[in-house]
Amino acid sequence: MSQRRTVYFDNNATTRVAPEVFDAMVPYLRDFYGNPSSAYRFGSQVGKDIEAAREKVAKLIGADPKEVIFTSCGTESNNTAIHSALITQPKKKHIVTTMVEHSAIIKYSDFLRKQGYEITLLPVDSDGQLDLHLLDKSIRPDTAIVSVMWANNETGIVFPIEEIAAICRMHDVLFHTDATQVPGKMAIDVNALGVDMLTLSAHKLHAPKGIGLLYVKKRTKFQPYVIGGHQERGNRGGTENVANMIAFGRAAEIAMAHLQEENTRVRALRDKLENGILKSIPNTVRTGPKEPRLPNTSNIGFDGCEAEAILMLLDQAGVCASSGSACTTGSLDPSHVLVAMGIKPMRARGCIRFSLGIYNTEEEVDYVLQQLPPMIAKLRDISPVKQSESHRKHETHFAETTTRAKVA
Ligand SMILES: *Cc1c(COP(=O)(O)O)cnc(C)c1O
Repeated sequence: MSQRRTVYFDNNATTRVAPEVFDAMVPYLRDFYGNPSSAYRFGSQVGKDIEAAREKVAKLIGADPKEVIFTSCGTESNNTAIHSALITQPKKKHIVTTMVEHSAIIKYSDFLRKQGYEITLLPVDSDGQLDLHLLDKSIRPDTAIVSVMWANNETGIVFPIEEIAAICRMHDVLFHTDATQVPGKMAIDVNALGVDMLTLSAHKLHAPKGIGLLYVKKRTKFQPYVIGGHQERGNRGGTENVANMIAFGRAAEIAMAHLQEENTRVRALRDKLENGILKSIPNTVRTGPKEPRLPNTSNIGFDGCEAEAILMLLDQAGVCASSGSACTTGSLDPSHVLVAMGIKPMRARGCIRFSLGIYNTEEEVDYVLQQLPPMIAKLRDISPVKQSESHRKHETHFAETTTRAKVA
């Protein structure tokens, strides 16, 4: 990879490893390579260091360290939560989740549907919000788990997790939340939230890719997903990803320290970028309401443009942004999140997500605000009629693959 100017506005896809995090993990790659399960001190000391890291990530979410299971990623944590709920309650064959979840939930639900489980995908309104009354009505005696994300990776829209947890408690049904986008942006207290399980992924908070966690509340029945050795108190087999666990611990400390800055300086940068685009470029619209929303995320529709074409021009100018989630880029279907909000596939295909972070500067925002208007003007010169025709077949295809919850 060449080192040219990069303006990185895609922090919801992944984040730069913080220098402090990198420094913390290096000794565990270079020097302290002992197996934490070994009896000798060269290994067992590493085990102790892992436990120190576990305490740090537990503190980030207000949990007891014993309630934290390290996994390989957010995807594994999400799969594990649902898998555990189904295996430990074999008579329950129904799951409630939403139409706007990350593919780690949506695609796993698709898989389970094929295995004979029933999945209710709750719709959202044009503000991207759930109807909590409908959620309440969707829970049945055979519902094994409700899984609702806290903050949406594509739009930044935040769900009222505390209220949803309370509804689930009333029905005595397990509740899991995918909180992957939350650390460093909102404070997390699993006990105040009242969740049974919660997912995080370290590479969204300035640690490396390939490590996540699943919080499992004390006394919750749990079935491991990865079965093998006694690692993670028997809750996940596999020799520990030591350096990444150490990194996650350090990143958790930093995330708490960054909370303030994300909500002041980063929020101001996001607002400057968003307001600047909406003001200087005609026929642009913010996706969803201003609040409640993550402080770093802005999703904007550029009518009459193809997101992929905008991203290509931005890329040529060294700017990283995205359409949809990184996990679905490359597919021609419009984002399932935007379509669920009732945004016409035509408009959804012109939506770009900018997600900022603590390493971004005002100068970078100014640069994008200066680069973007001529790009959009250039793209709009291309016949919009041609564009709409090539889209039509994808629209019908998408409608068929989407299941809506029955309104009770
Ligand atoms: C990134 C992300 C995931 C997936 O995490 P990985 O560690 O990449 O598997 C899951 N959910 C949300 C909301 C995300 O943003």
